[in-house]
Amino acid sequence: MAEAVAAESQVDDGTTTRNGKGEWTPRVVASGSPLFSRPWRLSPKAAAKALFGWNGYLWPVRTIDAGLAILTWWLLQPGAGIWAGQAGPLASLTELRPGWILLMYARNVALLLLIAGGWHLRLYYRRAQGSRFKYTSRWPATNSKAFLFGNQVWDNMFWSLTSGAMVWTLYEALMMWAYARGWLPWIGFASNPVWFVALFLLLPIWNDIHFYFVHRLTHWKPFYRAAHYLHHRNINVGPWSGMAMHPIEHLLYLSRWLIFLVLPAHPIHMLYVMQRTGLGPATGHAGFDQVVVHTPSDTRMSIDSFYHYLHHRYFECNYGNNLLPLDRWLGTLHDGTEAGVELLKKRRKLPREADGVV
Ligand SMILES: [Zn+2]
Ligand SMILES: [Zn+2]
Repeated sequence: MAEAVAAESQVDDGTTTRNGKGEWTPRVVASGSPLFSRPWRLSPKAAAKALFGWNGYLWPVRTIDAGLAILTWWLLQPGAGIWAGQAGPLASLTELRPGWILLMYARNVALLLLIAGGWHLRLYYRRAQGSRFKYTSRWPATNSKAFLFGNQVWDNMFWSLTSGAMVWTLYEALMMWAYARGWLPWIGFASNPVWFVALFLLLPIWNDIHFYFVHRLTHWKPFYRAAHYLHHRNINVGPWSGMAMHPIEHLLYLSRWLIFLVLPAHPIHMLYVMQRTGLGPATGHAGFDQVVVHTPSDTRMSIDSFYHYLHHRYFECNYGNNLLPLDRWLGTLHDGTEAGVELLKKRRKLPREADGVV
């Protein structure tokens, strides 16, 4: 009995529980927040946990995202915050000039280096926790013809920092310019405080919907062959794989700003959506389930990139994210279990129309 308790309380970190291929399956993936599953069945306690608990709707991801967007607006956005002149925010951005656009590009490159580079440095370069909590025991390829320079990490960094950061910046700059010219519906906190805050809660739903359908479209054969194959050369993913995409895919994937053509919002909300799109993939492709933040006390933080790891590993599944259960609703979920693998195999044998694959 005591032995069983001890075994149960042991942390499954993948060091002794891998299959023959070196893969570690930590759990069955949850499909979507409980808030979207059967909210009417949620007890008040479970609803509070799903909203305010760790990895819940608000904390930490969306709170950090909102904080970063507000910080960017006040400190790191040319023509806004502390850089706004007498004429008000963005008044100096009514002309598209290389100076302020290059500053925005430098900012976005710095953010990518901080987030993707930070995860990479700790988990892959220093290998601070070895392969504990790593989904596969393999490390990024260093001698492979599939990648530029024969090196997966250099290849991934190249696509992220050139085409990725450029398209991201170009879209943000065009939107700032359009806001500056008064072409877009712009609301402020002072005049619309409820809507201003509500948007931080609603826009993650837009992010999930956009990601799911754009991602499925990129798996349509002609598009896949022209562009999305480049991202999928990364079967074994790392933080820099997230934004390693073909330029055509960057144009489509980063088009989430489109909603602000019709949605009354503040440029901070546009930054909030675009920064999630540009920076989120670094964590989503980290390849680790948990990060050991303090080794002596074994203090860990869940980063849970299992959901999308399975997409790279098994391909025709898990197109979305795990906030809105779109994969479950639309029959493309792989829950990470053996039964899930069998289900996928069966689906692949069906004609594509019956499968519902775009
Ligand atoms: Zn894909
Ligand atoms: Zn991916």
